[in-house]
Amino acid sequence: MKLFGTSKVVNNELNIGGVGVQELREKFSTPLYVMDQTLLEENMAIFRDNFKSDKFKTEVIYASKAFLAVAMAQLVNRNGLSMDVVSGGELFTAIKAGFPMEKLYFHGNNKTYDELELAIDNNLGTIIVDNPLELHRLNKICADKNKKAKVLLRVNPGIDAHTHEYIQTSKFSSKFGESIFDEEIFNIIKEFLNSENVILEGFHCHVGSQIFDEKPFFGAIDVMFKFAKEVEEKTGFASKVINLGGGFGIYYSEEDNPIALQDFVTRMISDLEIKKEEYGLSVEQVNIEPGRSIVANSGTTIYTVGGVKDTFSGKKYIFVDGGMTDNIRPALYQAKYEAAILSKMNEEPDKEVTVAGKFCESGDVLIDKVKLSNPQVGDLVGITTTGAYCYSMSSNYNRFAKPAVVFVKDGKSKVIVKRETLEDLIRNDEM
Ligand code: PLP
Repeated sequence: MKLFGTSKVVNNELNIGGVGVQELREKFSTPLYVMDQTLLEENMAIFRDNFKSDKFKTEVIYASKAFLAVAMAQLVNRNGLSMDVVSGGELFTAIKAGFPMEKLYFHGNNKTYDELELAIDNNLGTIIVDNPLELHRLNKICADKNKKAKVLLRVNPGIDAHTHEYIQTSKFSSKFGESIFDEEIFNIIKEFLNSENVILEGFHCHVGSQIFDEKPFFGAIDVMFKFAKEVEEKTGFASKVINLGGGFGIYYSEEDNPIALQDFVTRMISDLEIKKEEYGLSVEQVNIEPGRSIVANSGTTIYTVGGVKDTFSGKKYIFVDGGMTDNIRPALYQAKYEAAILSKMNEEPDKEVTVAGKFCESGDVLIDKVKLSNPQVGDLVGITTTGAYCYSMSSNYNRFAKPAVVFVKDGKSKVIVKRETLEDLIRNDEM
């Protein structure tokens, strides 16, 4: 199992942020999401310190859908990043965290009236409008409230990134944005320009998620700048802002060949500077929206083994006290993870097992095949790289209470999201 950030082995046991996992189990029980705060901060610093240019402004916008809680929003702010939200719930979390509203971006292909109203009432910085219907809805809300909203139009640049089909967002048939290949786009842009309460600042695209190949990102720069030029020629509108989305691929297992972030974003900046010059654009700001690449490797989920089973077919299971409710990604995307028995870190992983959860679905399998060191009931199992899209996609299936989330740093641990209680599970039930 590959270790990241401050994770290391101390006396045969996994230690994260200076805290041993046995201590974490005793204090907080399992299953437990453990987040390495130092690594989170280092990842944010990589983007913040390297995605910058003296030819245009830059903004690194943390895509909060990957992982959000009040404490996370506050950490993002303290580390100088902006943030995007995609729902009223994420927006409410940011508001409660005291996140600066001017540094907030609002995404989504079907924002409701109430969500847009919440954004406008709170003077949210920039709304990424997905389609003309949303433009009309937003313009009306702003007119009623005598306000103006800064917006970007989400476009689909038609770039085919090699990743799992469910997380490709920029193919021609994607539900997100308006295609730049449809001549209608220029009429849509004119509608934006004629909408009195909406200020169009530029365009947004996101080519997909968990992308290892750099070509789609450089392709997106070229396509978006070319498009901005064409828009300028056909409508007279000069884009101030280009937002290139997120999607930078990270390591989950040996199959993955992650992007070297520091080098990559530096080369992205050089390419952007060259292309801006080449196309003669007056673009003033370029944004990116990393989510997974900031949080994924910072997270480790720890579980207790409750059962070991040898099936008639010869398949050997270990059952953990969580599963698809705290990590739906293996069931949803066939995502692959690494694991280890956390109190036997120096021992050779010799038993091939399937790590299954406790929920009523045959698909509730966290890892199909992994070698572990003689797993026994009561052992702690750790699955690494669970910081992104695990807690944020968690559910209460089987009325299971969601685990706590703990930040660890410099030998200290701090609960940032409490474990749900049984009472929490029936809180909204009418008696
Ligand atoms: N921006 C947008 C619009 C997205 O849809 C996503 C994820 O799907 C992201 C940013 C973040 O992507 P990732 O977590 O892969 O960096």
